[in-house]
Amino acid sequence: MFGRSRRNLARWFTLSMGTVLIIFAGVIYYIEAVDELEKLDRLLYKKIRVIATNVKYDWLKEEVNLENVPLLGSNTRLLNTELVYVRWYNSQQELVRFFGVPPINELGVNPGFVTVKNNTPWIRQVTLPVHQKDILIGYLQIGTPLTSTLNNLAQLRIVLAVAVSITLGIIGIAGWFLGGLAMQPIRQAYNQLQRFTADASHELRAPLAAIMSNAQVGLLSPVGDGSQQYLRLKKIVEVTKSMSSLVSNLLFLARHQGLLAPESLQEIDLGNLLQKIEEEYTVEAAERDLSLTCHPPSEPVKLRADPHLLRLAVTNLVSNACKYTSPKGQIELRLFSWRCARQAVIEVSDNGIGIPASDLPYIFERFYRVDTERSRNTGGFGLGLAIAQQIVEAHGGQIQVTSIVDKGSTFYIKLPLQ
Ligand code: ADP
Repeated sequence: MFGRSRRNLARWFTLSMGTVLIIFAGVIYYIEAVDELEKLDRLLYKKIRVIATNVKYDWLKEEVNLENVPLLGSNTRLLNTELVYVRWYNSQQELVRFFGVPPINELGVNPGFVTVKNNTPWIRQVTLPVHQKDILIGYLQIGTPLTSTLNNLAQLRIVLAVAVSITLGIIGIAGWFLGGLAMQPIRQAYNQLQRFTADASHELRAPLAAIMSNAQVGLLSPVGDGSQQYLRLKKIVEVTKSMSSLVSNLLFLARHQGLLAPESLQEIDLGNLLQKIEEEYTVEAAERDLSLTCHPPSEPVKLRADPHLLRLAVTNLVSNACKYTSPKGQIELRLFSWRCARQAVIEVSDNGIGIPASDLPYIFERFYRVDTERSRNTGGFGLGLAIAQQIVEAHGGQIQVTSIVDKGSTFYIKLPLQ
């Protein structure tokens, strides 16, 4: 799938860039052809002017004297020229004299430049009306082969064809490379999604199997020992609860992606929020023989946030701290604000089991658990930190961790202050 998309991207890139390139080469060729022709026309015009100055008009006899005209007259020096013909037509446009290729007897064309294509090679021809004292005495016409101009253009065509082909090849390679780059984030997102789906199915399979086996055993002996039946039903309820929590977590991750709805934002005091969380977790911490203390600053630290979500992010950290700290351990909640950096930092630290350095880069990934067995025993699916990170990032903040095995961990939630 990715290979095909990459090929398509490369193909379309090459096609579009190639079209632009070919149009560009066409324009260059056109400009060059016009330029070559103009150069030849200028040269031709110079020659016809030189020839025309030698045409004399005898006012007494009222006739044109072509004796001194190069290539037409008898006492002329030969022009160093490639002219294939020189023709003189009188003012009635009838042929009077010519040199070179036999002409048609009538002039037949208007004064100016034309390309005569019924000849091989093609001929560039110019016709000039010649005046003496403002009276038209005739028309001079000369022609020169277009061979060198056509050769130059043929060479240019070859150069352009080679250059365009090489550039197209380079564009194709660049397209393939860029296609690969463009596919990278899509491939990553796809792999992530696939892993997520596989992990979610895997997590759901275990409780489903537990429910199924308990139910099947119950069905086999419907009138068995009452206390056994009770235990089985209790197990089913427990497993269903854990499944339901997993499904809500999955739904949460799917729904709360990206930015927050503006109507859910409220101005909240982070100090108050931490104190409420401390109150809420005091009982649980006491049950586990842990001490939980909160150190809010004397000044209120206010910002706009979704109170429900931010609370969930912090409670996930506090709940982890409770889960992964041995009895007699300490959990501390701190809050700092740096007005100049326009940042508030919530710190949740414990002196629990800590996280190995090799696991630290992955613990915010969905379903990642440092020790799968231990996490399963504590009821975790490896989604708590992923949820916390998603919430903090949706608020424009960052979540970070430092940890030393057997010494403890500290999680930092950094939030921007408006
Ligand atoms: P879980 O639901 O398994 O706790 P989390 O996403 O909350 O999932 O945490 C991911 C993993 O990070 C946990 O499995 C645990 O191994 C580790 N972890 C998280 N918080 C702590 C902590 N305070 N101390 C030690 N390990 C922790």
